[in-house]
Amino acid sequence: MDRHKVVVVGGGFGGLFAAKALDRAPVDVTVINGTAHHLFQPLLYQVATGILSEGEIAPPLREVLRRQRNTRVLMGYVTEVDVANQQVKVVAPGTSYTVDYDSLIVAAGAAQSYFGNDQYAVYAPGMKSIDDALELRGRIFGAYELAELETDPQAIERWLTFVIVGAGPTGVEMAGQIAELAHRTLRGEFRHIDPRKSKIILVDAIGAVLQTFGDHLSSRAQRRLEKIGVDVQLNTKVVGVDQTGIEVETPEGRRRIESMTKIWAAGVSAPALSRQLAEAAGGATDRAGRILVNPDCTVAGHPEIFAIGDMMSLNKLPGVAQVAIQSGKYAARQIIRRVKGQPPGKPFHYRDKGSLATISRFSAVASVGHLRFSGYIGWVLWLVVHLIYLVGFKNRLITLVHWAISFVGRKRSERVSSIQQVFARRAMAEYGNPVYARFGKSSEHDD
Ligand SMILES: Cc1cc2nc3c(=O)[nH]c(=O)nc-3n(C[C@H](O)[C@H](O)[C@H](O)COP(=O)(O)OP(=O)(O)OC[C@H]3O[C@@H](n4cnc5c(N)ncnc54)[C@H](O)[C@@H]3O)c2cc1C
Repeated sequence: MDRHKVVVVGGGFGGLFAAKALDRAPVDVTVINGTAHHLFQPLLYQVATGILSEGEIAPPLREVLRRQRNTRVLMGYVTEVDVANQQVKVVAPGTSYTVDYDSLIVAAGAAQSYFGNDQYAVYAPGMKSIDDALELRGRIFGAYELAELETDPQAIERWLTFVIVGAGPTGVEMAGQIAELAHRTLRGEFRHIDPRKSKIILVDAIGAVLQTFGDHLSSRAQRRLEKIGVDVQLNTKVVGVDQTGIEVETPEGRRRIESMTKIWAAGVSAPALSRQLAEAAGGATDRAGRILVNPDCTVAGHPEIFAIGDMMSLNKLPGVAQVAIQSGKYAARQIIRRVKGQPPGKPFHYRDKGSLATISRFSAVASVGHLRFSGYIGWVLWLVVHLIYLVGFKNRLITLVHWAISFVGRKRSERVSSIQQVFARRAMAEYGNPVYARFGKSSEHDD
């Protein structure tokens, strides 16, 4: 008899931990992921700022799962879930295929949101993928190179002004790292410009940095950012982005910030697959497009389909790694119970293990239960937690070496970026994505 077929869509935190929890279960598992790698998104900002290489935070999924005999990995984007025929439709470069399932776990994560202004993306890349991080790396280090060539003081200032939109953990971490680049790493490397004169501006429409960490840690983080040279501009809403600057609206009125390098670290939306699945299953999505799920993470009327992680909407759970990991493991356990003929387990219960954000070297904020840490203790906690969750011993070891180079020393090991990494996205926007061209612009991954 055929074994129970489990398809896992997405190889991020949710998908990977779901697949791992199915190891040795009497099922056949197929993991389908848009890329060939798992991605540790919380460290993308370190790839963008030259501390880590992309390989350290993005191990190949098939390498991670190679010992799991009941599991295969396929590359491709699922464009449609056919709930009636229990089948997913997948596109991959130059080809397409379908895969049947008995149980389906959908963990397609979240996409960047520009709040209806997708045209900003060309000038202010977000930070969701390796492509994003490498493009940003090229733009950040490239800005210093081009500033060095300029003679016009205003043009130099424009190249040396970095605007980060969104003062959540990603924006704060980016701002902190660019400040360290400007003040420590690049010191003494240029003959014409002084990198220490860089302006690093962190803007947010709301009135606090790291708002979800509470007032105490939020004000500590802001003070630390200002101390290392970040200009924090709160209650400042971005209303326009173009090649040479950014328009903002504040309680005092509208103004412009001249800047060649803008980074978008604000807003997420659910992937297109979330809406498609909700429509196909007769379910609903929330305002962000995340699919509303039952207390056991299944989609309305379809006990065989689980939606987990960033793309599920359940009890206002946040879009963080632990929600994805725990819901992934939970879905896997539920499937195992069913296959073994056991009654369903209790509804999904999320255990909040806390939140962390680094600000600069040796300084982070951490909120764990009722405890609050900041400064060096927060940073040590951050270091330990990230090392634990990085996938693979080799990656942990190399990452530790690179952290020593950047935090104990002042160098960055990964400053290389190619012209293609910086300009390919614009070319694809103009000429079309050659890889997925034959499928038209059917999914958000086409552009
Ligand atoms: C820059 C950044 C920093 C972050 N920092 C933190 C942090 O410090 N702490 C924290 O807890 N969380 C952090 N997060 C959030 C955390 O990374 C997410 O909550 C977590 O990754 C969600 O896991 P997931 O499995 O739902 O989605 P993801 O990890 O995003 O994985 C989704 C996967 O699905 C694949 N995929 C998407 N669509 C399809 C499709 N149609 N077909 C096939 N595959 C598809 C993608 O390629 C991806 O591999 C951060 C996120 C970002 C972007």
